[in-house]
Amino acid sequence: MKRYVYDFADGRAEEADLLGGKGAGLAEMTRLGLPVPPGFTVTTEACRFFLAQGHVPEGLDWEIDDRLATLEATMGRDFGDPDEPLLLSVRSGARFSMPGMMDTILDLGLNDVTVTGFAKSLGQERAAWDCYRRLVQMFGATVLGVPDRLFDDAITAQRKRRGAASDIELTTEDLRELTGIFRRILCDEVGRDFPQDPREQLRLAVRAVFRSWQGERARVYRRREGIPEDLGTAVNVQAMVFGNLGPDSGTGVAFTRDPATGRPGVYGDYLAEAQGEDVVAGIRNTVPLQRLAELDPSCHRELLGHLHVLEEHYRDLCDVEFTIERGRLWILQTRIGKRTAEAAFRIAAQLVVERTISLDEALLRVNGEQLTRLMVPRFTAAADHAPLATGLAASPGAAVGAAAFSSAEAVRRSAAGQRVVLVRPETSPDDLPGMLAAEAVLTSRGGRTSHAAVVARGLGKVCVCGAESLRVEPGHERFTTADGTVVSAGDVISVDGTLGTVHLGALPLTDSPVSAHLLGGLPEVEDSDTVDLVGAVGMMLQHADRSSRMQVRANADTPEDAAKALTLGARGIGLCRTEHMFLGERRQLVEDMVLADTASGRDAALARLLPLQRGDFEAILAAMDGLPVTVRLLDPPLHEFLPDRTALAVSVAADRAAGRPVSPDRERLLAAVERMHEENPMLGLRGVRLGLLVPGLVAMQVRALAEAVAARRLVGGDPHAELMVPLVDTVEELRQVRKEVDRVLAEVSTETGVPVDLPLGTMIELPRAALTAGTIAAEAEFFSFGTNDLTQTTWGLSRDDAEAAFLTAYLERGILRVSPFETLDTEGVGRLVELGVREGRATRPHLGTGVCGEHGGDPASIRFFHRAGLDYVSCSPLRVPVARLEAGRAAVSAS
Ligand code: PEP
Ligand code: MG
Repeated sequence: MKRYVYDFADGRAEEADLLGGKGAGLAEMTRLGLPVPPGFTVTTEACRFFLAQGHVPEGLDWEIDDRLATLEATMGRDFGDPDEPLLLSVRSGARFSMPGMMDTILDLGLNDVTVTGFAKSLGQERAAWDCYRRLVQMFGATVLGVPDRLFDDAITAQRKRRGAASDIELTTEDLRELTGIFRRILCDEVGRDFPQDPREQLRLAVRAVFRSWQGERARVYRRREGIPEDLGTAVNVQAMVFGNLGPDSGTGVAFTRDPATGRPGVYGDYLAEAQGEDVVAGIRNTVPLQRLAELDPSCHRELLGHLHVLEEHYRDLCDVEFTIERGRLWILQTRIGKRTAEAAFRIAAQLVVERTISLDEALLRVNGEQLTRLMVPRFTAAADHAPLATGLAASPGAAVGAAAFSSAEAVRRSAAGQRVVLVRPETSPDDLPGMLAAEAVLTSRGGRTSHAAVVARGLGKVCVCGAESLRVEPGHERFTTADGTVVSAGDVISVDGTLGTVHLGALPLTDSPVSAHLLGGLPEVEDSDTVDLVGAVGMMLQHADRSSRMQVRANADTPEDAAKALTLGARGIGLCRTEHMFLGERRQLVEDMVLADTASGRDAALARLLPLQRGDFEAILAAMDGLPVTVRLLDPPLHEFLPDRTALAVSVAADRAAGRPVSPDRERLLAAVERMHEENPMLGLRGVRLGLLVPGLVAMQVRALAEAVAARRLVGGDPHAELMVPLVDTVEELRQVRKEVDRVLAEVSTETGVPVDLPLGTMIELPRAALTAGTIAAEAEFFSFGTNDLTQTTWGLSRDDAEAAFLTAYLERGILRVSPFETLDTEGVGRLVELGVREGRATRPHLGTGVCGEHGGDPASIRFFHRAGLDYVSCSPLRVPVARLEAGRAAVSAS
């Protein structure tokens, strides 16, 4: 017969799928010989059965009874015993931790008879009645679905009647009466009394925990965290121990290292005469764990011993809950502790130095998201300032600005030179201008995938969302905090998107020491924590570089960006977008080229662009001497460099209407703009199409690059330029470009006396190119996947339009889990990448392959590119360290 219930002593850490995370942890600690209150786990499988069939598997209650008998024997107390009853806790515990999302019931086994025995065994009548009334309340709310509010109202009324300021002042008699009132609430609401039979209590409680998997809270949480819906929860039934039995009892939480900073040493909080929830609820102030050494040296010593055992066993930071019952220490729970990004790096490095884990393992314990968090600016001492409110840390970083309550106001203030924080109940696409103008976005509603969060992350703006304690009133241009503080338009606030807090006034900002260090200029390092942190980041990056198969290059098109990328560890430039070299005052030259009536006029305009472009290339090649620099031919449609069609048409029409003369140049310009107008520029005359149809353009760009290479060689440089063609659909396009390229290279070689040969490759950024990669590879020495356009064209989505309009709705409705523009869609776009690599290499075994879309800097996407076999990823300079880390992690986790 299938088994659905496991004694803690029978389980193992590896069985978390079956026993849930908590159950597996309890089993592991029991096996290690730690003093865990005994108990058993009802499996996730039983829960899944219950949810599918609407009833528990046959024999489950019998199995539970059987385990309970063992538990009674171990504890030397019986469940329901009138003199000295065993009491139980029933807790949920899924495979993945879902704190506070499912239900827990404590003190099961109390009834009108056992409460007296329990009181005697405790020697405390009041405490016993307090437990009983809590049980009726918890049972009523969780198992029978009675609204919690009714119990809260009843307690408040009882306090009022007795003139008690808090629950602590209620006497035994008051609590006895309250228990009766609670039971009447049950009868009135659900037509049944609190069950007196402890076994019935247990049976119903187990079912209620199963059901709580489907509760609204739990579902929302799972959706947000990406936890699968079909896992189900295990149920842990455990003997109760009590931390509230007098001064020799208490409860606490301990960490084997500091989870906030990663400092070595034991940290934690202790609260004497308290039950577990009291520590979390913050009703009374806890004392630091060190104080326990004075209060109860023997338990403190024992605890340190157990913490040591646990850390040795799990080889990581452990987060431990414990209770002391009359001088006896019990360990209630151990988890691998959650930690800040800073602590993650420091602890990983410490464990390597202590020889507890290998460098490979350490690298897998940190990730790119954490490094991103460490690289943004932060407040010097946000923790020292009480926040106005706390919300979700939706987009990391720190920002200070004047509160603005509408998009228009944010734009106005920003245009006037102010730094602005846009504050809204929630944002919509209409707020985009305000979000762009603001340093940070703060909302009172919405989760991590709300419009505000998604857009802010995309824009790299700081964001705190869902700060529910704030009443935001855009109509009144103000928000009010829970304690009544009013912040009006123009008041300065500080937003910490890393911690999720909002503060009044301007907190001092500091650059991230990690960024400063990586950029090669850590100023006089003040404190040893910072030294440790940058050392730890350095250790991980160094190992990542040693381990990775993929190279990391940068997308850069100025010498400054190239130099910055190099400092941040890039091994070349994977995408130099030449369109950025056509802006500013050079725009006029582009206009002249477009408007030229004759070939000679056009050639003259191009000839004036040539030295400017050559100068750009020379400077970039100098900055990246010895490393590959992939230069892409002009990609965007030419009309992007011309004036706006509507604005020009209106101004010409206005001049005509007013009888003012319109110059022939402006007439010609308008005609050209009209002629070049496109309904769908993204799919229009751009990329290679432009190069093939605008005479002289490719020749000018190739000549500029070839001459720059020759010039660098002549001064002893080591340039490694590569030429890349954008938006290729068919191999014939590439063939025709190649002819032109070969012609120009031959000319330049003759003219300069320096033989210049540039590898010619193509972007693969259209589905047809990926699907015909085998053919295209015959003409391309390398492929660079342009996953921005490849995503747009595979999905048939214009990125700008989707992000401004409906992407958020898609995320909120769960149609998309993440934006395909942020994290590569491996099922769709990713298959095209894999196919392109495979078929390209089948034609040309040594074909170089890389990616230069935004995804090249996204941790999850980088892992995919490693698996797809790419040679390099290329991303914006500031993301280079993250990409290095992830490229290393991908290689280590695959080995
Ligand atoms: C791409 O399409 O992925 C790409 C890098 O090109 P761009 O973003 O310049 O269109
Ligand atoms: Mg592109």
